[in-house]
Amino acid sequence: MENKSIKTTFSLGKLYCSVFGHRYRVTKKVTSHINEYQCMLCNCEVTTDDKGKLTQLTPQLKDINETLTSFHKKKNHAF
Ligand SMILES: [Zn+2]
Repeated sequence: MENKSIKTTFSLGKLYCSVFGHRYRVTKKVTSHINEYQCMLCNCEVTTDDKGKLTQLTPQLKDINETLTSFHKKKNHAF
């Protein structure tokens, strides 16, 4: 019974997202232009791509962002 209600809430969240759009919050700042976001309703993750648009956060993109983060930090430390 309880399990069923959780599932219903989850799919309602997804339905809400598909109708009204995701409600993202920033989970990680990568650079001044690139952030990682997570939707508060369906928990999907996205990131900013090189064109400034939001795209699904794949493991590959996560790797790239990880590299960018360390690169960004090193660059700032040089000064
Ligand atoms: Zn969502």
